[in-house]
Amino acid sequence: MIVVFLSPPGGGKGTQAPRLARQIGAEHLSTGVIFRSMYEANDPLGIKAHDEYWGKGQLCPDGITIPLVEKKLAELEGAVLDGFPRNIAQAEALDRMVKVDAVVSLSITEQTALERLGYRAECKACNITYGLANKPLNKGECNSCHGQLNMRNDDADAAIIRQRFEQYETKTKLLLEYYRKNGNLHEIDGNQDPERVYVDILRALRLDA
Ligand code: AMP
Repeated sequence: MIVVFLSPPGGGKGTQAPRLARQIGAEHLSTGVIFRSMYEANDPLGIKAHDEYWGKGQLCPDGITIPLVEKKLAELEGAVLDGFPRNIAQAEALDRMVKVDAVVSLSITEQTALERLGYRAECKACNITYGLANKPLNKGECNSCHGQLNMRNDDADAAIIRQRFEQYETKTKLLLEYYRKNGNLHEIDGNQDPERVYVDILRALRLDA
């Protein structure tokens, strides 16, 4: 089964997509995670993608992104895609690679998203992630090891966050119409509590029985 998640930054796809993937026994495939780990591993393409694109809140070029996804998908039976496609050219490329079974769009107000992004952090030592629903007891400090929490560098700057929203509004949002026409779009209110959002996703995909 191939499921696509769409949402603006902070919309919850990074929380909901891995959970759904575990439940349906598919791989969670996040292009954002791929780009960040390439960068952290000092991969030259990962450094270029960071310095010229995602580190500035811009989408990475299709010529880099599409082949990365194509290679990963070729190794997988089923996948929950988180962050791909993000524009029409990517959606068309994906349709040439696989049959998309369902698309979940999480909508969210910019205000809620900004609030969530402000709390998004992780402890690299303990592998614990924090957010609005599970804030650290002391801001910036891991509850478990008391080490300093890491924020994504594209979450830590208001101008970059604004760019990412702009990219969503002008490029990714067009995909709602693209998938609505295909008849496999499920629109979910992402402003709700994450547990409630997950229940709505399962119901929309008829996996709640
Ligand atoms: P995310 O973790 O999904 O928020 O992605 C982080 C950043 O990686 C985005 O702001 C983009 O700059 C880049 N990125 C992730 N997925 C894509 C994609 N499908 N196309 C282009 N850029 C992407």
